[in-house]
Amino acid sequence: MRNERTRTGIGFDAHRLVAGRRLVLGGTEVPHARGLEGHSDADVLCHAVMDALLGAAALGDIGGHFPDTDPRWQDARSLDLVEAVRARLDAAGLAVVNVDATVIAEAPRLTPYREAMRENLARALQVAAEAVSVKFTTVEQLGALGRQEGIAALAVAAVAAQRGTEPGTEGR
Ligand code: MG
Repeated sequence: MRNERTRTGIGFDAHRLVAGRRLVLGGTEVPHARGLEGHSDADVLCHAVMDALLGAAALGDIGGHFPDTDPRWQDARSLDLVEAVRARLDAAGLAVVNVDATVIAEAPRLTPYREAMRENLARALQVAAEAVSVKFTTVEQLGALGRQEGIAALAVAAVAAQRGTEPGTEGR
């Protein structure tokens, strides 16, 4: 069994849409009548990506790393937390291979912001934009998300041992 094989992780998040908040997705502000409610900027896309990365590394979850009871993360910019997760993977000898995410939002239309989101995430993760995929879907007006009560995001991520840091290869 090769130790440098890739490992995958999954992430999911959802936040409620409320008046008087900015809508921030993938570190990009999207003009909309309401924004996501949360302790940080409530960027569901960043949160799902972070949990996918932490999952791939078996390093717990964002609730453990950035508890919402900790005033340090009050109004935190989630893209900065993505960067912090990347640093934790780096400390564990892991590098990001790729990320694929789906944002589930009935509205607004997000396609015009896709490239900005990909570039933000790629920069935070220190990978090429080609390694970051962001997709959008609706739920055809079904359920709470369909009634635009909130926005959710799913992500998967793959990580691999950094070159030269595979366990058992030191000094070879
Ligand atoms: Mg969240």
